[in-house]
Amino acid sequence: MATARPRGTNDILPGESERWQIMEDAIHRICGAYGYQEIRTPMFEHTELFERGIGETTDIVEKEMYTFKDRGERSLTLRPEGTAPVVRSFLEHKMYGQALPTKLYYVGPMFRYERPQAGRYRQFYQFGVEAFGSSDPALDVEMITMPIHVYIELGLKDFEVHVNSIGCPKCRPPYRQRLQKYLNDDKDKLCGTCQSRYDRNPMRILDCKVSSCQELTAEAPLIADYLCEECSEHFQAVQNYLQQLDVKVVPNRRLVRGFDYYTKTVFEIKVPGLGAQDAVGGGGRYDGLVEEMGGPSTPGVGFAVGMERVLLALDKEGAKTLTRPGMDGFVAQFGGASKERAVALVHELRRAGLSVDMDYLGRSLKAQMKAADRARVHWVLFLGDDELAAGAARVRWMKTGEEETVALAELAAYLKAQKEARP
Ligand code: AMP
Repeated sequence: MATARPRGTNDILPGESERWQIMEDAIHRICGAYGYQEIRTPMFEHTELFERGIGETTDIVEKEMYTFKDRGERSLTLRPEGTAPVVRSFLEHKMYGQALPTKLYYVGPMFRYERPQAGRYRQFYQFGVEAFGSSDPALDVEMITMPIHVYIELGLKDFEVHVNSIGCPKCRPPYRQRLQKYLNDDKDKLCGTCQSRYDRNPMRILDCKVSSCQELTAEAPLIADYLCEECSEHFQAVQNYLQQLDVKVVPNRRLVRGFDYYTKTVFEIKVPGLGAQDAVGGGGRYDGLVEEMGGPSTPGVGFAVGMERVLLALDKEGAKTLTRPGMDGFVAQFGGASKERAVALVHELRRAGLSVDMDYLGRSLKAQMKAADRARVHWVLFLGDDELAAGAARVRWMKTGEEETVALAELAAYLKAQKEARP
């Protein structure tokens, strides 16, 4: 047997790919409606972009990157997330010099060397949004309402939006110290990962899934109680807007996110009952990132949605399956002159904008009708000897079974008009 696909990757097969197209259509439409333009960055970047942009103490940079040397001995990495590449592009093309805010979105595969399980893959798709140049809390709210809009549009009902603020470079350092002091005596009871987090990134200990770490931090001080005035007012404004829009959120004072770059608002959207991998999206504000990556001081805010997980969540809810409408029609033929005419007619109808198929296996009329059923067509055209002699085709409307004869010269215009008339 030929080699199987690499572990943690998926083939999106016909049937399933329709659902992806529908999801992507909704994403493009909704992003457009919120004033965002699509950006497509390379699938790989210089490794240092992620080391610097995501943070060296994050799980991604420490153990999940697909890093390789190319033939010119450069270290490259398959992108594990979309924010660092978009910031790189924002700087490289000096978009900060254009009208702000810059509102960008992307859709595409990301790569992380994680242990594969349901909802966690090594190549997975994200749709994400980044907005630069505004620190307005109303824009943080847009980051929360936009993915929700996509979920609702696709039919997802059951999700929770967890929101928190993790402060800024002003309020975080004194809080960090406080947290370290609180955990100091129990340091050696933390799991191995958290012991190394203690010095480098202690807030991430709050996020640990190991039960002993969770117990040790159950009563730990939380950043929410130590926000500076600016962060506290900003977070209050975010919450006020959310309330005004009637967006139900779960204030989650323990929520911290896996990247170093976040400041102020962070959020995560979870689907209860989806299992261990229950986050369908998340994001937050990153006011220091653009400057840290060598650009002018520019606030930023964004989110990313895991697209496989959205489909898994829809399956779990037993939501109405996302299907495309069937094809317009099928041209049935009987060989010989009828076949020749069919090839020309199918070509003409397709050029006229109709979706049409025919038989390419020399099948019986009965088998052709089965193929037409599978394509869920609205009509079947018959090109028998009598019809050809009369310069006409017989049209059968599949829903009602009614039949009519239409002149070949008028077919394209007639079928197009009927498509509008009987959708
Ligand atoms: P993150 O970039 O880690 O904040 O992830 C954003 C979203 O991407 C998550 O909420 C998940 O829905 C999705 N995601 C992250 N990692 C994976 C993965 N390995 N496999 C599938 N989806 C993922």
